[in-house]
Amino acid sequence: MSSYDYDLGILGGGAAGLTVASGAAQLGAKTLLVESEEKLGGDCLHFGCVPSKTLIRTAQVYHTLLKAESFGLPSVEMPPVDFQKVRARIASVISTIQKNDSEERFCDLGARVVFGSPSFSDEHSIRLNGETVSAKNWVIATGSSPGIPPINGLDKTPYLTNREIFSLDRLPESMAILGAGPIAIEMAQAFSRLGTKVFVVQRSGQILSKEDKDLADEVMATLSHEGVTFHLNTEIVAVKDSGNFREVRFKNEAGENNALKVEQILVAMGRSPNLRGLGLKEIGIASNRKGISVDDRLRATHKHMYAAGDVTGAFQFTHAAGYEGGIVVSNAIFHLPRKTDYTFMPWCTYTDPELAGIGMNEKRAREAGMKYSVITEAFKENDRSLAEGEKRGKIKMILDKDEKPLGVQILGPQAGELLNEWVAVLNGKVRLSTLASAVHPYPTLGEINKRVAGSYLSPKIFSDKVKKGLKFFFHLKGRACGESANGRELQK
Ligand SMILES: Cc1cc2nc3c(=O)[nH]c(=O)nc-3n(C[C@H](O)[C@H](O)[C@H](O)COP(=O)(O)OP(=O)(O)OC[C@H]3O[C@@H](n4cnc5c(N)ncnc54)[C@H](O)[C@@H]3O)c2cc1C
Repeated sequence: MSSYDYDLGILGGGAAGLTVASGAAQLGAKTLLVESEEKLGGDCLHFGCVPSKTLIRTAQVYHTLLKAESFGLPSVEMPPVDFQKVRARIASVISTIQKNDSEERFCDLGARVVFGSPSFSDEHSIRLNGETVSAKNWVIATGSSPGIPPINGLDKTPYLTNREIFSLDRLPESMAILGAGPIAIEMAQAFSRLGTKVFVVQRSGQILSKEDKDLADEVMATLSHEGVTFHLNTEIVAVKDSGNFREVRFKNEAGENNALKVEQILVAMGRSPNLRGLGLKEIGIASNRKGISVDDRLRATHKHMYAAGDVTGAFQFTHAAGYEGGIVVSNAIFHLPRKTDYTFMPWCTYTDPELAGIGMNEKRAREAGMKYSVITEAFKENDRSLAEGEKRGKIKMILDKDEKPLGVQILGPQAGELLNEWVAVLNGKVRLSTLASAVHPYPTLGEINKRVAGSYLSPKIFSDKVKKGLKFFFHLKGRACGESANGRELQK
């Protein structure tokens, strides 16, 4: 019999921790879940996915109303946005979802939830609210926080991060966004659509730097067209609080100095793992700048301790945190050795149009030194897309040298939803010919998936070789266009 208080202790009640808690408790493990904030749910619910997608939708509706004329409707005069009402809508969506992540729900499942700030006293025990609590296995799922770079003057200048941006009292007139990753770019478009003058300041020459440049550039062109100003290839020299406004000074590639005067600064320059105060170093758990070091079964330095979610620094998505939570349950509770496999981990940036991907893009295939080919299909060829008023974007299918799909990228309306078919195709190893011959409802955006698979197959099906064979066996007579109705050649 074990002398530990719990079979499993989990630090962090976000996507990863809640997945582990729910699985472990329902499987009969005596489970403790420790959360340092006042509520469960983590960054995704309170300061991440949920508020950002709610804000994006509000901004999209406002933007659509403003361009009513392009849908053949009378033009609409819209009053300025009252951000307190937007904020209230965000809070209401969060509180509705919060019920799924309540303490009561997890108690019903069988887990004990305790709020407080834990610290490891040895590799099986934590100090929590003045008590020592032990567990046979531990899971560290404490997530990540906005990374704050050492920019000159930032410590003396008020700035926003994802923790404050969704609960502002008023819509800023202007905002400089430092960084150009998914969070920065989603917020740039949403705030610009609501009426803020947005500037994006980015060190490298491409926004969304993990994406293929052609797709990222198309997102940037859309945002520029909507009024966002981009300063790429810059080095931020300093920021300054000047009372009524904040100043961001930066240098461009040519070394020329430039400055922006804005009402607000949003720092969105990457994430840092939440490790502070946990006492991990003292008990010998290895970590680096990105997060806790884990093996492919998500075990940390001590094999009875696991880490999952953003705190490992791997794939910082809610669905990745949930996936990793499931791997931990397999390993720690079922004792079924299960390894992580990120080959087909999907992602989506929720700009309009959305940019979603799964597997390898061209950039990653090139970095891996692979030979690949690309097949594309444009949304302007998709009937539903045109009916929706959308001509932007395309789907890219990346094939390896044996013409097996390595990955798919979609830039277009509802790209995240469209990607789900590829999640099934790639994970289920479905043949492209099966996808191309499967009937999709007309007119849907999803037909683009079928068409890109068909585009790959059509040169093979309609090749000269096939035509010659059919002519030989079945005496087909060939092209009809260019002949008179009775089949004779037209006189020139
Ligand atoms: C603005 C924004 C938008 C995003 N949009 C998306 C999106 O659209 N789709 C997507 O997939 N991902 C999105 N993400 C990323 C997503 O939020 C994270 O990947 C996800 O929350 C990670 O889950 P987690 O469980 O690892 O961490 P979290 O959800 O952050 O949970 C960690 C929990 O641990 C708690 N904690 C921290 N320190 C301690 C401690 N010492 N002791 C106990 N508890 C502690 C925290 O309070 C928190 O509740 C977004 C992130 C941001 C910031």
